[in-house]
Amino acid sequence: MPIDPTLPYDDQNIFAKILRGEIPCNTVFEDDLALAFHDINPQAPTHVLVIPKGAYVSWDDFSANASDAEIAGFVRAVGHVARALGLVEPGYRLLANIGMDSHQEVPHLHVHIFGGKPLGPMLM
Ligand code: 5GP
Repeated sequence: MPIDPTLPYDDQNIFAKILRGEIPCNTVFEDDLALAFHDINPQAPTHVLVIPKGAYVSWDDFSANASDAEIAGFVRAVGHVARALGLVEPGYRLLANIGMDSHQEVPHLHVHIFGGKPLGPMLM
């Protein structure tokens, strides 16, 4: 079910539990501000999720309310992960779903990194 982005942050969401170590993940990268791990249901040969450690529902919440240091750290983490995974050549795709119309399912900001094959044109 897509989330209602008007609701406050739910600290019982699955990525909050991953951040607290309550459920496992296959970690790719971690620092003070971000965590990256493999998606449980990959849609490409490489499908990694990068999340900020702060409690932000979505990109909208994050871009409006996070500190400059959190934003810079998160953006750099996404780039670092893509480079570390060897995706820069031949390329990769970033995706962030935000709210109901995008069908965002987990109410903690996450950027999807897709790669490892030609991904074709974006359909929407
Ligand atoms: P959204 O639709 O919210 O942009 O994407 C949520 C993503 O989280 C989906 O690709 C889904 O497979 C992934 N996901 C959901 N639950 C888990 C989990 O427990 N562990 C991991 N690693 N990924 C999850």
